[in-house]
Amino acid sequence: MAFQSPYLASVYEQVEKRNPGEKEFLQAVREVLESLELVVAKEPEFEANGVIERLVEPERQIQFRVSWVDDNGKVQVNRGYRVQFNSAIGPYKGGLRLHPSVNASVIKFLGFEQIFKNSLTGLPIGGGKGGSDFDPKGKSDGEVMRFCQSFMTELSKHIGADTDVPAGDIGVGAREIGYLFGQYKRLRNEFTGVLTGKGLTYGGSLARTEATGYGLCYFTEEMLSCMKKESFRGKRVVISGSGNVAIYANQKATELGGKVVAMSDSGGYVYDENGIDLAVVKQLKEVERARISEYVKRVPTATYTPGCKGIWTVPCDIALPCATQNELDEEGAKALVANGVIAVAEGANMPSTPEAVAVFRQNGVLFGPAKAANAGGVATSALEMSQNSMRYGWTFAEVDAKLKDIMVNIFHNAYDAAEKYGDAGNLVAGANIAGFEKVARAMIAQGIAY
Ligand code: NDP
Repeated sequence: MAFQSPYLASVYEQVEKRNPGEKEFLQAVREVLESLELVVAKEPEFEANGVIERLVEPERQIQFRVSWVDDNGKVQVNRGYRVQFNSAIGPYKGGLRLHPSVNASVIKFLGFEQIFKNSLTGLPIGGGKGGSDFDPKGKSDGEVMRFCQSFMTELSKHIGADTDVPAGDIGVGAREIGYLFGQYKRLRNEFTGVLTGKGLTYGGSLARTEATGYGLCYFTEEMLSCMKKESFRGKRVVISGSGNVAIYANQKATELGGKVVAMSDSGGYVYDENGIDLAVVKQLKEVERARISEYVKRVPTATYTPGCKGIWTVPCDIALPCATQNELDEEGAKALVANGVIAVAEGANMPSTPEAVAVFRQNGVLFGPAKAANAGGVATSALEMSQNSMRYGWTFAEVDAKLKDIMVNIFHNAYDAAEKYGDAGNLVAGANIAGFEKVARAMIAQGIAY
């Protein structure tokens, strides 16, 4: 689709020239810019202040060598990244991803999206993201520890509790955060809230582990109730992935009365008409770090199908993609629509391709975009930062109640912004616009550096 605004067209052309071949980053930028057509047309001050061309260029981007020694005494080299995208409304904040698919484009797409997501939470956090092409799968604890220590040795020079506060993402859970935090403390001799997602014995927040999955369901419940007078109760739910987000999305969807009938990992998916037994998934994934295919050995009523994309052919009312980017394509979207899906909400970042999103829109399926629907994780990370600053901790119920309020507000802010700019019901546009406005006004207020 061509841009109507010459300003947006020229900014996007420049982004394409400057970032050749970075397809994930270009996809994320294009989606946001498309949503801003009506905003730049109505409010010329954004163009006059060069806001969008500044917004699409990271404030700082770091790439570094991470060398470490494996269990056989062999030297290994990975590539580390941290993109500090925008600090207009607070310190950079965003996770670290450890996965072989990580490259500059993936980290920049995630960092760019993080700006708007963090703004939507209503909390004072800027946007950033980082990670490495290190693959934690099949590595021993010792190897993961040595990698994390080496990674933090460089990263520690660029982050800080008031500068940039990383968290977990794919491949970075409690174990990795512990090793990273330990190394930061050793190097700097200071105990600060420099990372979130920490263990509960050393500054972590209750409910952070559950936050993204729970938040996704709070958002979805509000979207269903407000836009369709519906709820999770009695609905069939399909959730892709079986990591942190997927597991706690399953728990909350079930608590709200839904039945989760399928889950997956990068190898394939399991289907269980009786409802997925979450205790078995947690044992396999959180304790044994095993494959989802093992599930059928423990639950005989279930079936396993190799290949993760087939999960979208399982009939359901609500689909929650919670694995990775571009995992739900046009074909998957059409299969969901043919089977009568009423709502799709994104737990993962950019899991639906633009073609899939178009299919949902054309067929009147409620669609909760990642920036809004999965913001519960970073929101609770910001609550962890507040607790660290106060040197005080809230109870699980207190954090969970704040999380729920934040998710309900995010839904309404996105919904209202879409309506205000004449695109009622389009939460993709609404989330982008609501997230953008606050950051853009802060950038204008803070001037341009000469
Ligand atoms: P985890 O590492 O805990 O789990 C990732 C899950 O996705 C695993 O089941 C993994 O399977 C699967 N997966 C990874 N890559 C692929 C792939 N190429 N194809 C199919 N499945 C794949 O990560 P999280 O649950 O933390 O993150 C999942 C998504 O949610 C990511 O997009 C992340 O950016 C996003 N997110 C996470 C937040 C958080 O708080 N953790 C916050 C906001 C967003 P396998 O084990 O086989 O690799």
